[in-house]
This record gives sequence, C-alpha cells and structure tokens, in this order.
Amino acid sequence: MNNYSVLLYYKYVDFPEPEKFRNDHLQFCLDNDIKGRVYISSEGINGTVSGTIENVEKYKSALISYHEFSDMIFKEDPAGEHAFFKMHVRVKDEIVHADFGKVDLENTGRRLKPEELLKMYEEEDDFVIIDARNGYESDIGRFKNAVAPEMETFRDWPRVVQELETYKEKKVVTYCTGGIRCEKASALLVEKGFKNVYQLDGGIVSYTKKFPDTFWEGSVFVFDERRIVSPNTIAGMKHIAKCYYCGEAASWYFNCHNQNCDKLFVTCDSCKVEHEYCCSDECRNSTNKRKRFHG
Ligand SMILES: [Zn+2]
Ligand SMILES: [Zn+2]
Repeated sequence: MNNYSVLLYYKYVDFPEPEKFRNDHLQFCLDNDIKGRVYISSEGINGTVSGTIENVEKYKSALISYHEFSDMIFKEDPAGEHAFFKMHVRVKDEIVHADFGKVDLENTGRRLKPEELLKMYEEEDDFVIIDARNGYESDIGRFKNAVAPEMETFRDWPRVVQELETYKEKKVVTYCTGGIRCEKASALLVEKGFKNVYQLDGGIVSYTKKFPDTFWEGSVFVFDERRIVSPNTIAGMKHIAKCYYCGEAASWYFNCHNQNCDKLFVTCDSCKVEHEYCCSDECRNSTNKRKRFHG
C-alpha cells in the first residue's frame, strides 16, 4: 500500500533569516515523522522529504504558512515507505551548488510547460534539447535526441555553455530533475547571449508524470533512497543503459563495494549478485569491502 508520499520542491526567493527557520523547521519535522533533506539559504529553499500522506499534508501547510513560500509548487510521488533514513535541514550559501557566481534569476529561460514540450516534439519543431544534469544521471535516461554534455557536477555548466556556442541562434530547451538547476543553467545561457532559451517547468518529474511513454527514454536518477525511478511502462522505454557485465538493458546504479574503488556503474539484478556488487574480480577480493545494507 502506498500510504507514504515523497515531496520535491524548491523556490528562489529572498529569505533573510535562514538560521531561525532551520531550527523551527527541523523540530517540526521531528515531531511529525518527516524525513529527508532541506537546504535553506538567503536565496531560497530546496527540499525533498517523505512521510505518511497525512504528515506530508501537515508539512505542506506548515511550509506555505511562511509568506515567502505561500505559492510553493509541490511535486508529489506516492511511495510504500519513507524515502530517507533521517532528517537534515542545512543552512547553505546556495540552494543548489552551482558556484558560478551571480546570475540574474529574473532573467532565466522562458518556462515551458510539459504539454508545450510534448507539442514541440509532436510537431517536429526545430529545437535543441539540453540535459543540464550530471553525466551519471543522463547515462541512464534522457529526452529523445537530447544533447547530454559531459558534466561531473553542476559546477561544470559554465564550461558546457562555451561548448554549446553553436546553438546560440537556435531555440534551446534545458531540463533537469525538478527544475531547480535549470533556473540558473538557463539564466547563464541568456547572460551569454543565447537568443531563444526555454527551461522545462517542473523538470523531468512533472513531464513524466503527465506524459509517460512518450519522449522521455529510460530511468530517472533521484536524490533519495530510491535512487532510480522508472516512469515509463512500455518495456522498450524503461532502460537506455546496459548492464556493465552482460549487456542487458538495465538502470540500477551503485558504487563498487570495494571502498578503495567506489566506481559508479550499472548492472542488472542477477549480475550484481553474481559479482558481489563489485566492478571486477580484483575489487571482489578486496579486504576493504563495504557491508551491504540495501540494493
Ligand atoms: Zn547483467
Ligand atoms: Zn571496483
């Protein structure tokens, strides 16, 4: 039974006293069995939490009682249990770690609704769709024909923008998981002189909820204990990656259990068991193996 709910939200807004909010918010979460992580900053809030449906409703009410967050848009996913082990509320300089200086958040790419992106695909509009996430995310799922730049972290985005120079005059659409990274990613494109920039409103999460089995291919990397979600139901559209060992379609990611290696790779269910969650025989024979607690 799906008695739980996983919530994802963010908002860029001037928020003068993040420290005070932190303590009150953490206490509220502990009192109401809400788990997850929330980043609060003078530039806004970024959270993903889980709880019973009833507690998550209380959580949403508590959050929108702050006038800064009164128009918050929540993305919600049903779940059978908590998606986190603990609750963290952290005060940060930025609600998403970009580290590329000040960008004008009033001047971002225009917001494109999921139905508008669907229409662009269906009418074969001339546009370039760009994945603003990290390589390990786009490796297991992306929009049809997306440009997926090589990025280790979001801090690589300014370098990527230089590489995207050839699309300056084109219609470009950026997307990320829930939309938060695209606010900054698209603002930087606008700042660097890209003429026709859009950002997918609500990100992959909103699009795939409305239009599964259309133009999203593969799985979605999420930043909670689920790690991977598969929005598509058609077998051929569930995976774009292949098992590191046998080459079968797969999406499940984990780090090699040799802690000296820690390599992130994809395997199918049977190969991960057969190879004891390790990327090689050498790693499998290591004396510094992680204890297995899930997966
Ligand atoms: Zn396999
Ligand atoms: Zn390894």
